[in-house]
Amino acid sequence: MDHPDPTGAALSPLFLQRQRRLRMALEQRRTRHLYRSPSTRAGPQGPQTILDGRPVLAFCSNDYLGLAAHPTVVEALKRGAERYGVGSGAAHLVCGHTPAHSALEVELAEFMGAERALLFSTGYMANLGVVTTLAGSGELVVEDRLNHASLVDGARLGDARLRRYRHRDLGHATRLLDGSAGSCALLATDGVFSMDGDTAPLEGLQRAAARHGAWMLVDDAHGIGVLGPGGRGTLEEAGLAPRSNLVVMGTLGKALGTAGAFVAGDGLLIETLIQEARTYIYTTAPPPALAEATRVSLRLLQREDWRRERLTDLIAYFRAQARACALPVLPSASAIQPLMVGDASMALRISEALLGQGIWVTAIRPPTVPPGQARLRVTLCATHTRQHLDRLLDALEQTWRRLPIPRPDAETVE
Ligand SMILES: *Cc1c(COP(=O)(O)O)cnc(C)c1O
Repeated sequence: MDHPDPTGAALSPLFLQRQRRLRMALEQRRTRHLYRSPSTRAGPQGPQTILDGRPVLAFCSNDYLGLAAHPTVVEALKRGAERYGVGSGAAHLVCGHTPAHSALEVELAEFMGAERALLFSTGYMANLGVVTTLAGSGELVVEDRLNHASLVDGARLGDARLRRYRHRDLGHATRLLDGSAGSCALLATDGVFSMDGDTAPLEGLQRAAARHGAWMLVDDAHGIGVLGPGGRGTLEEAGLAPRSNLVVMGTLGKALGTAGAFVAGDGLLIETLIQEARTYIYTTAPPPALAEATRVSLRLLQREDWRRERLTDLIAYFRAQARACALPVLPSASAIQPLMVGDASMALRISEALLGQGIWVTAIRPPTVPPGQARLRVTLCATHTRQHLDRLLDALEQTWRRLPIPRPDAETVE
């Protein structure tokens, strides 16, 4: 089972040992039911799609408003490509920045009620950029235990000291800040937690961060477009006005249906990111056509309230029906409606059983979630219908009746 060198050259025993280590790690993953590989979806993003050649009803995308394949957004991308070509050709600070990028930044800032906004190529890179810029080496960063991996990696990359508080535990967060003697540079939290769907106690966290002279970063990847009367996300939902210590990161690849991310905040912060954030400086600017497409989807998000209203209605319907069938829903008011399972192999079995009925729901396993908390991550979109949800609920109910699924920990389930 050795992997020989393509040139036929002899490999050193040390290198063979390194290869063996990789093979063993893969093997171990398989036996623990933690092995993952991408499924191949054909055609545009949408509830009814083709998986490995078979039609399925999908409940796993983050395209919450159904904008990813919207004809007007697609048209804007085409027009943008005709006008600007495909690649931006260089980083923003070299010659990759175009009027399309500038216009989108102005429109995003306006939408968020922030002084300025700055585009990044991905949400992952935006979080790395903000955290490394605001928290220097050795400074304290305080984070929710269930924060997105990119917020954790930002603290590690910047060589900051990372302390994590229990999920959504404002008291624990405050104690960490109180014990920091003013050395906490940044408190960071997801707005909506990506694998649980619940929201952070933003007002209390913001007040605690401000009291300790720290920045506060809200990663609102799953809140933008979904929560708040105007779809501005968890801050709007919490009635929290822009503050000078408050920074919001929003992604464009979820409710906005395109790709990329932005950071919104005050001018001092944005100017600093342009000068210092390495994930902004040392990377090619996103294609200008993508910025044009995002401008159109932002307009649709603002004009077509019915998308958010429809989604809100579907969320309420799914929760009521799931509770009535005694399915283990978590306390989430967002489009993310996980069903707690616990065991990773059981979560996989359920996902496979659903697929057998033409329903696509992904099983989420460690390390994406803590050990023993594997789950099915159901996500709802404005393009689903109640009939779609009825099909999902029927399949879930049957599967839960047929498989020996243990009752999950009562504490985690609503
Ligand atoms: C998806 C996601 C990101 C990363 O955004 P990308 O644009 O996909 O890199 C960051 N934070 C959270 C909470 C996310 O769900």
